[in-house]
Order: sequence, then structure tokens, then C-alpha cells
Amino acid sequence: MKCVPIALTQVLQTDTKNEIFAKLLFAIPEALAKKEYFACGNCKANLLIYDKVTKDKPKVCSRCGCMVDWVGIKSVLVNQCPQCQKAYTQLDRFCSDHDPVVSLKQVEVAI
Ligand SMILES: [Zn+2]
Ligand SMILES: [Zn+2]
Repeated sequence: MKCVPIALTQVLQTDTKNEIFAKLLFAIPEALAKKEYFACGNCKANLLIYDKVTKDKPKVCSRCGCMVDWVGIKSVLVNQCPQCQKAYTQLDRFCSDHDPVVSLKQVEVAI
């Protein structure tokens, strides 16, 4: 199961009784500027905390167990050469630096 994180402002506007609201009150004093808060797109009851400094983010919702899909929000998919780590666009298929040809692999990188 996969879920897409929801920006917290959207959640709070639509559901002010959500328990996330209570959790957030605890979290606020702790370096608000360094963190960004999202709600789990599946259970909508868990806070997903993105650390702007370390770029750490949860892979799985600790409440409902869904895989958090950060692609397009905090990461992008790029094609990368498994040998020299050179990054390419999604349209590229092969690394230009090797003979014999090396196929690129899709990887998720933080933005
Ligand atoms: Zn969840
Ligand atoms: Zn290469």
C-alpha cells in the first residue's frame, strides 16, 4: 500500500478535530523552522515529519503501515548510472561514458 503525504495546512482547514492537531501542538516548540509537517494520506491521523536540514523523512507511516510516496513532493526520480553515479533525465536510458553499454537505473533523490 502506498500513500501520498498531504500538506498539513490542507488537513487542518478541513478537519480541525483531527488528532494531528493535538500532536502538532507538542511538536511546534521544537525547531519549527527546521521541520515540515505532513499528514499521512492514508490514515490522515499520523504526522509525517520532514527534516529540512538532514532531509530525513519517514518511509513508512508508523500508524497504518503504508509506504509514503514522497516523489514529486520531496524527491524526484532520475535515471542514474550504477557504475559512475552520473545522473540523467528520465528520457535517457544508457550512460554515455562506458563501452560496453551500461543501462541506467531509476533512483529517488531528495530535492
Ligand atoms: Zn498512515
Ligand atoms: Zn556511467
